[in-house]
Parts: sequence; structure tokens; C-alpha cells
Amino acid sequence: MTAHPPSPPPDGGSWRQQTLQAGLDLLDQGLTVFDASLHLVAWNRAFLELLAFPSEMTRIGAPFEDFIRYNARRGEYGDEPEDEAVRRRVELALKFLPHDIERTRPDGRILRITGQPLPGHGFVTLYSDVTEQRRTEQALRQANLELESRVRARTAELQASNERLQEALDANEAITASLRRSEQQMRLVTDSIPALVAYFRRDRGYEYINRGYQDWFGLDPKRPELVSARAFLGPDVYEGIKPNVKRALAGESVTFDYELHTVRGATLSVRTTLIPDRAADGEVVGCFELTFDVTEQKQSQALIVRAQKMEAMGQLAGGLAHDFNNILTVIIGNLAALADARPQDQAVSEFTQPAVAAARRGAELIRGLMTFARQQPLQAGAVDVGALVSSVVRLVRPALPACLTLQAHAGDDAVWTWVDATKLENALVNLILNARDATPGSGRIDVRVRSAVLDGARAQALQLQPGPHVCVDVQDQGVGMDAATLARVFEPFFTTKRPGSGTGLGMAMVYGFVRQSGGAVDVRSAPGRGTTVSLWLPAAETPAELPALDEPGHVPDGARRGVALLVEDDGDVRKVVRRSLLDLGFAVIEAANGQEAQDILAQMDGITLLLSDIMMPGDIDGRMLARQARDRGQARQVLLMSGYAPGIDTLTDLPLLAKPFTTAELAAAIEELTT
Ligand code: ADP
Ligand code: MG
Repeated sequence: MTAHPPSPPPDGGSWRQQTLQAGLDLLDQGLTVFDASLHLVAWNRAFLELLAFPSEMTRIGAPFEDFIRYNARRGEYGDEPEDEAVRRRVELALKFLPHDIERTRPDGRILRITGQPLPGHGFVTLYSDVTEQRRTEQALRQANLELESRVRARTAELQASNERLQEALDANEAITASLRRSEQQMRLVTDSIPALVAYFRRDRGYEYINRGYQDWFGLDPKRPELVSARAFLGPDVYEGIKPNVKRALAGESVTFDYELHTVRGATLSVRTTLIPDRAADGEVVGCFELTFDVTEQKQSQALIVRAQKMEAMGQLAGGLAHDFNNILTVIIGNLAALADARPQDQAVSEFTQPAVAAARRGAELIRGLMTFARQQPLQAGAVDVGALVSSVVRLVRPALPACLTLQAHAGDDAVWTWVDATKLENALVNLILNARDATPGSGRIDVRVRSAVLDGARAQALQLQPGPHVCVDVQDQGVGMDAATLARVFEPFFTTKRPGSGTGLGMAMVYGFVRQSGGAVDVRSAPGRGTTVSLWLPAAETPAELPALDEPGHVPDGARRGVALLVEDDGDVRKVVRRSLLDLGFAVIEAANGQEAQDILAQMDGITLLLSDIMMPGDIDGRMLARQARDRGQARQVLLMSGYAPGIDTLTDLPLLAKPFTTAELAAAIEELTT
């Protein structure tokens, strides 16, 4: 509030008037006197301070209406229209009635205004600032309300807890009574829980043990007083859990995991909960003890963590492999094109050959990674696992040193699964070679095939569906693996072998392939105790039509494979590829461009294989040709070859072989084609 000078003494005021004025100015309350015609007669300093009228307005004889109008204009009466506000107030004042109102000024201050008529008409008005007073009152009211509600809530809480207490007391009494009545019953119950249940006192002496203690530690449940935790757990385990017992006896419920050994020599992962038992005065007098076997739970948790890790690595490897594959395709393609372009140039081939060879080794690694990442297409079919294992063992045996015995145990009955036979063979070869590497000197490797029905728990542990499975175990008696190696055995590029002798991709590929086939791999190993790798695959029905047995290593003779149409504009390349096709048992027709090939396709039935270059002079490129032939059924199989990679991504619907290729690679590519 702005300070105002003392109100000017009325003009020509006597000292008496001046004294009176000085007295009025000392008042805290504002004061005005209007005469019967509503003109200002007197006022004081507090009035000016409280209402802040301009000093030129406050003069003797100033009309009441001027003050009202001034107020209305500065918003003291809210939204009320000015004329209306003035008229109403002047009319009211002229009635000269006592009044007592409160008004909040626009600046938030609250004014109390009381008016008293004067005997000879006119009135005196007092103005007091009651802002603080009202605010304090309001705060007080609020505080009272809050207090009341808090008291109400607290009362309700107290009532509720009283009731609970009463219930608990009742229940306790009932329990105590019923326990007294049936301690036998309690023993029956605790003995039937597959857990250890016990009670020990503050001094750590046991008062109760259930039958679990008999099963695990050979203790007599009827003689709890003979039990000592240090004795049945062994000093090492006991020292480990001692701090937990201390905490429980200090009044805290504690749960902790540890390993213990049973009388039968088993090592179990267990979880114990200790709950303090308090006397009425709150003193801890003993502890309830509950111990569960969580071995299986822990194992399956570890499996899940590992599966998640493998999943993440698979995604990473898959992404990398895809990109590198494209890069290598470009490198190999361009090197091949360079070699094609300068077939006679000794210097060129001297540089390109090692480069191509290195790039192909890279591509080989990438293929392994893609198998791990489950990105290699599978050619699944019904496979008799026993027969496959026997033939793999026959093939691999000559590659092993004579001091190693390799034996298949397949049984007589066929066991079927639905799997990519070639990839399963590769997986088994990998496992057998690992077993060989792990067995220094002489020893034996056994490959067993068995049928097994997985129950819920076992299936879950392997992350498989319960039901019939085929299992192949590859077992060696070699050096085995420690826990750290075992934990990483499936990681791509993890190897403990000398640089150059292991890629670390073998187990990763086995894992990827088996998982992609809906199966699981399980490895059991310990240092010095050998290793058993088990491949679990879902069992399949015996197929209605038995698949024809392919004689391994058989090379077809004559034109047994049918007729191949070879389309290639480069005569030299055509010559080389033609030789390969002949070696593979095809009769070969040649065409030098798309147009020529189209004519041949239109005139000739029974073409088995169309093998075409992509880039050729003329209007028809290899891609168009191959699509047409396929869509019109003019060739049973189509295969493109190219030295250039750039178009590869648009070619996803047509199989493609990168040039240059060996006869074996051409054979494999044809094998992959589905008719
Ligand atoms: P690599 O054979 O190239 O090392 P793998 O993925 O096949 O790659 O195997 C990875 C690692 O797993 C091996 O280096 C070896 O430490 C361990 N391993 C695999 N199989 C066995 C086994 N049968 N016995 C002992 N260790 C093995
Ligand atoms: Mg290996």
C-alpha cells in the first residue's frame, strides 16, 4: 500500500479542527463523513491509504457519486455496468440505513465497510482491512477440516486393526487348540510336503523336523533333540548360511539359496526360508524353517538364459552373414569376370586365383554362420535316423586314426524324423570329428540312436514340446569340457583349438540346424570324463512311401540325368560349363543368346534343365528366358548363372549360381533345385 501524506486540513481549519483531524489520522480504520446531500465532509489518512483515491478527489464537498463512479471504473464492483452500479449505490445511500458489508478489492485485499447514519442525516463510514483476519480464519477452518478427517481415518484404522487383532487372537486360540488336538495330523501334513520343515529354538536346538530330514540326511524325526545343523550340513555349508540364521533370530524373515549334499551323495540346489517365531512380548524365541529343492528350477533357468543368449547371437550373426555374403558375391563375381575377360593372361589369373580362393573360404564361413542363424533353407524329408547314422559312421571311419574305435548302435527298427538329411549328416560328422579331436591317443566313440518320449519337465528343460522324439547321442571318453567351455560351446567362432585347426563354427552349425528342425541339443561333459552330445529331433510317422535310397558317391553315367539347355554368349565359358554338365550325366544342347534359346525351347519337349547366363546380347536376357520357360513348363528345372552380383536381390524367385563354379558346386546347385 502506498503511503499517503496526512489528509489536508480542511481549508481555513481552526486548530481545533486540526487537532481533530490529527486524531482521526491516528486511527487504523479509514473514515469518511458524508452530509445529507451526500457530499464529503471529513476523511482520514487511513481512508486514503485503504482506498487509494487520487488526492484531488478528496476535498470537502466532493460528491459521493464521484467516488462510486471512480470505483466502478477501476473495477471495484466486478462486472456490474458502471451506471447501474452508481445508481444503485447512490439510491441505497440516500436511504441512510446502517450497513455492514465486506468487499474484496481487485488487488485481493478484503475491506469491511460499516456505515452509520448521523442524527442530522448524512452518515459516517468506517473502512477496515480484514484481509489477514479472514485468511487466518480460512486457514484455521481448513486445518480443522483436515484434522477431523485425519482423526476419522485414524479411528477407522484403529478399529480395523483391533478387529484384526481380535480375529487373530480367536484364530490363534482355535489353531492352538486344534494343534493340541491333532499334532499327529500336523506331522502327517508336513511329512507329505516335498520339502524340509523344521522348528529350532533361539539356542539353535531343534524341536521339530519332518520326514524330509530322514530322506535327505538320514535323521530320525522322532529325535529332533539330536539334530545339529552343523553336523547334517557339514561345516562348510553351515558356515555359509550362518549369517542368515543370525538375521532370522534377530527378527527378520530371510530366504536364501545354497547347495547341500544329501546322505546319498547327491548335490542339490535348495532354497530355505526362515521365519522368526516371536513370543507375546515380541522377543524372538525360535525359527520356522522351510527348505525346497530348486535344482530343476535352477537348471531350466540356466537353459532359458542360454537359449536367449543364443537367440541374440543368432540374430547378430544372421545380419552380419547376410551383408558379408553380398559383399563376397560381388568380390567373387567381379574377380571371375576379370578372369573370364582375360582367359589367356597368366598375370591376371596369378592374382585372381588366390583372391577367389580366399573369398570362397570366407563364403564357406558365412554359410556356417547362416546355418547357426537358421537362415539356410532346409530340404526336409522323412529320414530313417538309424540308417543315416550307420552310413555316416561307415563314411567317416576311414578318416579316423586306427586307435580310435567308432561304432554305431542303431537297433533294428527304423526310427523316422522329418529333417534335412544332408545337414543331419554334416552335423554328425562335425560331432564325430570333435570327439576325435577330444580323444588323444586311443579311445572309442559311440553313436547311439534311440526313441524316447519326452515328458513335460524334460521337454521343458530342452525347450521342446512333450511327446515322441528321436535322440542321437555322440559319446566320447576324451578330455571333456570344464563349465566355462561348456557354457560357450555353441557360440559361433568359439574354439579352444589351435589357430588354423578349428573355426569354432561346428557346434554353432549343429545348434542352428537342430533348432531350425524343431529339435534341441543337449551336451553333458566334465573334465576328464568325456562328452556326450545328444541331438533331439521330433519323431515322425513311418512314411507311406519309402524314400529311394541314394547311393552316396554314385556318379550317373551317360545321359541319365536328361537334357540340359546351356545358354551362354561366351564360347570359352560355354565350353567349360558344357564339360561339367556332361560329367554330371546330362546331354547338352547349346545356345549363344536368348533368342536362340527361346526357339529351341519352343521346338523341343523334355528339357530337364535350363542353365542360362543372365547378361547376354540381344533383347532377351537370362532372367526373362528362365521365367518364361518356368511359367510355360518348357523346362523342368531352371538355374541362372552370373558373374555379376548387382541384380541378385531382385532375383529371389530364381535360383542363381555365381560364376565361376566347379563341377561339384554345379552339382550341388542342381541338387538344391526343386522340380
Ligand atoms: P571347433 O571344433 O572348430 O573348435 P566347435 O564349434 O565344433 O568348433 O567346438 C567348439 C569347442 O567346443 C571346441 O573347440 C572344444 O573346446 C569344445 N568341444 C566340442 N566338442 C567337444 C568334445 N566332444 N569334447 C571336448 N570338447 C569339445
Ligand atoms: Mg568342430
